[in-house]
Amino acid sequence: MRVVASAYSVAEKAATIVRSVMAGGDLGIVEKTGANDLQTKADRLVQMSICASLARKFPKVTIIGEELVIWVDPLDGTKEYTEGLLDHVTVLIGIAYGGKAIAGVINQPYYNYEAEAGAVLGRTIWGVLGLGAFGFQLTEAPAGKHIIVTTRSHSSTLVNDCISALNPDSVIRVGGAGNKIIQLIEGKASAYVFASPGCKKWDTCAPEAILHAVGGKITDIHGNSFQYNKEVKHMNSAGVLATLRNYDYYASRIPNNVKQSLVP
Ligand code: AMP
Ligand code: MG
Ligand code: MG
Repeated sequence: MRVVASAYSVAEKAATIVRSVMAGGDLGIVEKTGANDLQTKADRLVQMSICASLARKFPKVTIIGEELVIWVDPLDGTKEYTEGLLDHVTVLIGIAYGGKAIAGVINQPYYNYEAEAGAVLGRTIWGVLGLGAFGFQLTEAPAGKHIIVTTRSHSSTLVNDCISALNPDSVIRVGGAGNKIIQLIEGKASAYVFASPGCKKWDTCAPEAILHAVGGKITDIHGNSFQYNKEVKHMNSAGVLATLRNYDYYASRIPNNVKQSLVP
């Protein structure tokens, strides 16, 4: 709980950095591995701020007793951040114990940014396995509808073929893994489907803990659960499948050719 409490306040400080870099006007964008894999000054400053604060409070922050690992995404949805889709952006701090995501904090620095003047800008959602998740209103997606939420900027033929095979009533394309989990827990979408490599452990750790804390489920496209021990491969090579309810419905409809194309 001490780590979760620190992550909560550190994430709020991170959100002020995310907003001030944007307000300063110079995002300092660099491309990492290629197109659509961006890093801004906000990513760099938030990374330093979170790691420095947590390291100061918890000197053995990466691993305590060989088992506690903290996965940080300083800015999730960087592509959308650079394009002014501000409420897609989140700061993610995930806490793993024994390789399992047990707690997470998602700060959404621009929550409410289009609301009327006076609305509080930004929010912090947090959750602990076995305790629940807080900072939002848990809402069920419309019954009997298959609303899929997926990537906005990292689509591929496989990503789209997989979604088509699920016969969706509608498809929501938004940035950020954190943001997509928010869509699930607030009832905007019934499944997060991403049949592609690209997502990393720091994208899924905090969202997974929060989703699991409220009874949801997240796995790769084969149904394998994610591991978060420090030796684990960073890339979620076999994609992402997440739901708040009815996980089995979506898992059972992932086409075999999609599974064969994505090696865990
Ligand atoms: P998206 O749903 O496209 O916003 O992706 C969710 C997270 O996974 C973001 O942090 C992305 O940067 C990352 N991601 C997904 N696909 C890719 C990719 N093809 N290349 C780089 N990063 C990716
Ligand atoms: Mg990310
Ligand atoms: Mg990031």
